Amino acid sequence: MAYFADDDPGIPLSHYREHEGAGVLLICRRCTYDRSIDLEPLIERLNARGLDGPNVGVNEVARYTLGNCPECRARSWETRPDFRSRPGQDGLPLDFKRRR
Ligand SMILES: [Zn+2]
Repeated sequence: MAYFADDDPGIPLSHYREHEGAGVLLICRRCTYDRSIDLEPLIERLNARGLDGPNVGVNEVARYTLGNCPECRARSWETRPDFRSRPGQDGLPLDFKRRR
């Protein structure tokens, strides 16, 4: 399910500040668990760990995610931009029922 090579950091998080309501979607590669992370708290948490939060790439967030999946206990994350808080931005109908 990886869309980018593992060493591709992806677009810097600061870019997504231009997209109102955008966040990062954290996806477990082993099961169906996913979770949306708000952009600004995420950048702050990365900064607090001594990283350059705004310049962390969206794909790199997966690497910096320390926790295990609450569903399957795996620690195999993938991250991608999340525009789901903007209806229709992900190409799904506005009334589409998500799996979670
Ligand atoms: Zn999982």
